[in-house]
Amino acid sequence: MADFDLILRRENDTDIGVADGLFVAIEPEISGSCRFEIVLGDRKLFPGFIDAHVHFNEPGRAEWEGFETGSRALAAGGGTVFCDMPLNSSPPVVDAAAFEQKRKIGEEKSCIDFALWGGLIPGNQREIPAMAELGAIGLKAFMADSGLDEFPWVTPDDLREGMKAAAAVNLPVAVHAESQAYLASLPQPDETGVKGFLQSRPIAAEVEAIRIACELSGETGCALHIVHVSSAEGVNEVEKAKGIGVDVTIETCPHYLFFCDKDMIDLGAVAKCAPPLRSPHEVGALISKLVAGSIDTIGSDHSPALPEMKGGEFAEAWGGISGCQHAFPAFLSKFPDFVDLLTINPAARMGLAHRKGSIETGKDADFTIVDFSKTEAIAKESLLYRHPISAWIGREMQCRIEMTFCRGRQVYGSGRIPSTQQQNLCSPYLARQELT
Ligand SMILES: [Zn+2]
Repeated sequence: MADFDLILRRENDTDIGVADGLFVAIEPEISGSCRFEIVLGDRKLFPGFIDAHVHFNEPGRAEWEGFETGSRALAAGGGTVFCDMPLNSSPPVVDAAAFEQKRKIGEEKSCIDFALWGGLIPGNQREIPAMAELGAIGLKAFMADSGLDEFPWVTPDDLREGMKAAAAVNLPVAVHAESQAYLASLPQPDETGVKGFLQSRPIAAEVEAIRIACELSGETGCALHIVHVSSAEGVNEVEKAKGIGVDVTIETCPHYLFFCDKDMIDLGAVAKCAPPLRSPHEVGALISKLVAGSIDTIGSDHSPALPEMKGGEFAEAWGGISGCQHAFPAFLSKFPDFVDLLTINPAARMGLAHRKGSIETGKDADFTIVDFSKTEAIAKESLLYRHPISAWIGREMQCRIEMTFCRGRQVYGSGRIPSTQQQNLCSPYLARQELT
């Protein structure tokens, strides 16, 4: 019996020993025996990335993506954990039965670890304790039309009731922050197509929704997570709330940092998302907020659909960008000092930090090895999604993910290293840590 399953050797740094799927030793020049050894050389080691915002659409719409292809694509991007959103799977996860149904499928099909969001829709507050009991990491609500009748949006009153129920079981509520009332009050856009869509979803609608959600969070004591914030003004609104003690965090997505409204015009529906891509000036302002430390987490909001749903009229096309394979390495290559936003920050906010998010002894041996001396042009052929469609095609990444390991088992990379059977017996499902 070897002392370690794997030893990672770093120059001028500690070695890392892995056994039984855990980091078990972090010290200089580990001397025990091991089954495999990786000498990092110039390559960099990071904790496995955590994507707290994906839509893998299974069950019900697995033909859009599914756990198998989705998890493989994320692993290729350095990801070791995802948190799946309660929509656009069908049935949506708005009660315990749907939660269990999705968990079982994920356990069967995911190649990396995962957790689940429950859904918060008008009138389902009574389902929240049961979903919490099953390990939901939080509840997701839409403050604007989700595009699916089965997942209706919440009014401020609905949100208040849901937040009270979530606070009672110590779960955060995540919101898609665009105010439906504000959107509905806007005049018809004078343009059609992409430009009309951009006009119909202004930053003011996002700011208004964030203001309302923060107010309700303060009122109810419910932790709040604003997903896919697209504007610096939205971040300002959160900062105001943080300043008066509201427990609120912000996610943004790489597509709001790397793409602008012109890309939506040039690329068409493949780059359609809501909130929409913003002007170059707004993108710059959001990047300034990120660099100033005002953003807490990065999620991909990987939201694929059938190819035919991206064709035809722009107004009718499904919104959502496929990005979980490249969003994180792209982010890391531009913002290497902000790796916490991909690792420990989401782990802490989603109640997973007891096992995930950092390289520490006793934690799951989740890590990715990145080579910054290599660049990679994103080609359609390299996409591991069910449908090789992405706004990221043609972009160049200034680094390459070499290998990804989840609980000591290689889930991506060349020169595959065999896993131990014992690790495969573990369930990939992660429940939110019980708060004591
Ligand atoms: Zn989403």
